Amino acid sequence: MDGFRLGSISGFEIRIDFSWFVIVFLILWSFSAGVFPQRFPGLATGTYLAMGTAGAVLFFTSLLAHELSHSVVARSRGIPVAGITLFIFGGLARTGAEASTPEDELVIAGVGPLCSVALGFLFHVLHQVGVVAGWPLPVTGVARYLGFLNFVLAGFNLLPGFPLDGGRLFRALAWKATGDLTRATRWASDGGRILGYTLVTLGVIQVLGGLVVGGLWLVFIGWFLRTAAVFSFQQHVLRGVLRGVEARRVMTPHPTTVSPGLSLEDLVEERFLRDPYQSYPVLDRYGVVGLVTLDQVKSTPRDRWAHTRVGDVMTTPPGLLVSPESSLVDILERMAETKSNRVMVMADGKLVGVISPSDVSRWIQREQMIADLKERPR
Ligand SMILES: [Zn+2]
Repeated sequence: MDGFRLGSISGFEIRIDFSWFVIVFLILWSFSAGVFPQRFPGLATGTYLAMGTAGAVLFFTSLLAHELSHSVVARSRGIPVAGITLFIFGGLARTGAEASTPEDELVIAGVGPLCSVALGFLFHVLHQVGVVAGWPLPVTGVARYLGFLNFVLAGFNLLPGFPLDGGRLFRALAWKATGDLTRATRWASDGGRILGYTLVTLGVIQVLGGLVVGGLWLVFIGWFLRTAAVFSFQQHVLRGVLRGVEARRVMTPHPTTVSPGLSLEDLVEERFLRDPYQSYPVLDRYGVVGLVTLDQVKSTPRDRWAHTRVGDVMTTPPGLLVSPESSLVDILERMAETKSNRVMVMADGKLVGVISPSDVSRWIQREQMIADLKERPR
């Protein structure tokens, strides 16, 4: 699940994980009913609610700034970032690729905590200025607490467990030292698992000691981290396998094509209703000009099908084109970047195949069956 789309900042799509809706409420509640009344007693309930709301919004903005800093640096190093999904204690930049050198990884991972530390100082300065200038207590109070939170965020993210930033820094150093990315990733993800279990244990101890809410938070965060660490390592291994697979082994060869002048009406009648495919490469006299998908037809109103041509709605290259030697990693990245979710395979300027998600899943099934056959005892 990809979460809820919030908008986009400088080309990065921002999404919120569904867990955030629960978490926003929890944060708002713990700020308004817990943190602020404890730290600044004697104010009105409405004031605490306003402080809580402002605090939650600024906390959210701080998380976003942290993630954006990773994304901007990653993009400047040539790693495509599709967008950012915000989770509880941070977010995940949805990168299509991994860093190609330990130095890149160091810089990309390091900038996030640096950004949070900078924000921490910024809020503290704001607090000091406010105190001197005589701003009301709720305003300076929120600024001070946000300063503290940003330092906590930097500190938490620096814990040495992959996929936290600290784990990534550790992985980059281990990668640099050993020259072996897979081994470095395994160490870093072991770190993440151990850290996750440690947090869960600490949480359980807190719950048993009577600190139920704080303890449950720790258990939750620890378990999340453990899961993320295991998943990240699997993803790394999978990436390694997919890197060795070429487009030619996965594609559907000799695809049926359509012309850009065809009406959507005819496209549906003659193609989509007859064949099992969900997309067609579009060819004119000179070669490939685009790709038309069932989704594009669906998003065109029914009464306009007769007057709309394939050429009006199709997706156009070059983002859609790969070579027969392209690796499956590149192809999946390309699919994630293009809305059509498909790529066309070109050799010597000619179309030789198409790859859709079902081609990829069929290939994985076939590989699985071959692996099973090999393991079968004679
Ligand atoms: Zn980070």
